[in-house]
Amino acid sequence: MEYIKLVEVCSALESTSKRLEKTYIISEFLKKTKTEDLNEIILLLQGKVFPPWDEHKIGVASRLILKAINKAAGINITNIEKEWAKIGDLGDVAEKLIKTKKQVTLFSSSLTVKKVFNNLRKLAGLEGAGTVNRKISLIAELLTSSKPIEAKYIVRTVLEEMRVGTAAGTLRDSIVWAYFPEAGAVYKDKNIEVKDREKYNHYVDIVQSAYDMSNDFSLVANTAKSKGKKGLKEIAIKVGIPIKVMLGPKEKDAGSALKRVGTPCQAEYKYDGFRLQIHKQDSKITLFTRRLENVTKQFPEVVNYVKKNVKGKSFILDSEAVGFSPKTGEYLPFQNISQRIKRKYDIERMAKDFPVELNIFDCVYYNGKNMIKEMFGKRRAIIEKIVKQEPKNIVLAKAIIAKNEKDVDKFYKESKKAGNEGVMLKKLDAPYKPGARVGYMVKLKGELEAIDAVIIAAEWGEGKRAKWLSSFTLACIDENNSFLEIGKVGTGIKEKLEQGVSFEELTNLLKPLIISQKGKNVKVKPKIVVEVIYEEIQKSPTYSSGYALRFPRVLRLRDDRSPEDATTMDYLEDLYFEQKKK
Ligand code: AMP
Repeated sequence: MEYIKLVEVCSALESTSKRLEKTYIISEFLKKTKTEDLNEIILLLQGKVFPPWDEHKIGVASRLILKAINKAAGINITNIEKEWAKIGDLGDVAEKLIKTKKQVTLFSSSLTVKKVFNNLRKLAGLEGAGTVNRKISLIAELLTSSKPIEAKYIVRTVLEEMRVGTAAGTLRDSIVWAYFPEAGAVYKDKNIEVKDREKYNHYVDIVQSAYDMSNDFSLVANTAKSKGKKGLKEIAIKVGIPIKVMLGPKEKDAGSALKRVGTPCQAEYKYDGFRLQIHKQDSKITLFTRRLENVTKQFPEVVNYVKKNVKGKSFILDSEAVGFSPKTGEYLPFQNISQRIKRKYDIERMAKDFPVELNIFDCVYYNGKNMIKEMFGKRRAIIEKIVKQEPKNIVLAKAIIAKNEKDVDKFYKESKKAGNEGVMLKKLDAPYKPGARVGYMVKLKGELEAIDAVIIAAEWGEGKRAKWLSSFTLACIDENNSFLEIGKVGTGIKEKLEQGVSFEELTNLLKPLIISQKGKNVKVKPKIVVEVIYEEIQKSPTYSSGYALRFPRVLRLRDDRSPEDATTMDYLEDLYFEQKKK
């Protein structure tokens, strides 16, 4: 397929914010896409060239793009930078400059989807001397033979900044519309008509669960196209490929929590660490974060604990890794160990200085058997049988069977005293639902709920803070994957590095993400997630979300969360109405 066909679709997607329209555009495109191109198309529509759990990353900074444009269009870097400052989006800059150049020369041949895809994939494989120049050449080669609008999307894909709004829900529905006409979705007058809602939802559920198991829309689309409903149902959990973890909604007190999970239920400590999914097949152990990132290399000691202390030929365990002080043994907040997640060097020393204890709380696959449909009680019994506990290395999440509110309140106090966030209550007779915030487990963690917000803009400081970004615009994510402002924050960030998240650290993280600058204000790519507490959520005409946080304060960096994991607008609205009830 010619790349321009895909670009036309991206452009159409970008021109509408309506989810149904996007779904229709993608579904019509999928109908026309041949099987041989489907893998690439699905990934590129999501702005990716690898599935999220793949270890390969494109890893190209904005500076390299400037050099690639320079090489392809023969325009000097200073002029490209000027355009960049004026226009803001590097993709738009590439489009404009390639257009200028193409008025003089004619482009050679037309780009194919495969060519673009292969060049972008090669970027991730490069290592060693000369890497930078080879990366520039690979991008420049594409830009040289691209039409201006193609250049725009090539640049955005390289920067992993597609922004055409293909949220997971939209892609899922497009797959239903494209490959299951029997689901009965008819797009008419910018709306959909569904004859039989139940039947339609049945197909949506089938596609969704195939996705929750595989995290791979390319596989899901291919299977839907070639093997239909039956094929999708056969997509199973695969050891080595992470599944989406199950999440829990928050409840305000023991009474309402117990109503959701029933009695008796299991109450567990809610540890303040990060989620770790552990996969084992024969002697191979792989660790994934909640963002589906492969962090096996970063936690060699965890790999050893699992090897030594967990019985079984193959399994997938769900757990929370919690940092503790090597001196006192006390649990430490997540912030203290977060730096280990992205660490590429000095791994052994980090493991010594910032040890983690693994708290296992679930098992979704065991010795060749998918366990997600088994009841929680049974899954817990398995981990009790296979894990040999070793305090401070690997243990089971501390748990009791709670019969009433009194049990829960007592356990909650005990958990807080031990330095944890609160408790999780789990329904004993419930399956594991990957990717869903269903009420099979609920969390109880104190009065106000902190939110995970994405930094989308910032302001340079003044006086002694002039070299730092010092005020940060926060955003939540909506169902189109757009980031909507909810306020600005400068409180809670420290002057010095060792005291938690500092101005210097945030500035260093955000600087390479700057998209445009006007005076003291910069816009940044939505990449950095921070946990923020506040006194109240208010309605506000000032911010694009319609809401504002009153007195927000940064608690910590959440570098185990991707922007897509940030608090959703829906959830923020729930919190707003919940606080009004009180
Ligand atoms: P939250 O991040 O507030 O939505 O709370 C859910 C997170 O709590 C999960 O994703 C886990 O990382 C973490 N967690 C800590 N302890 C447990 C536990 N015992 N069971 C389940 N999740 C836990």
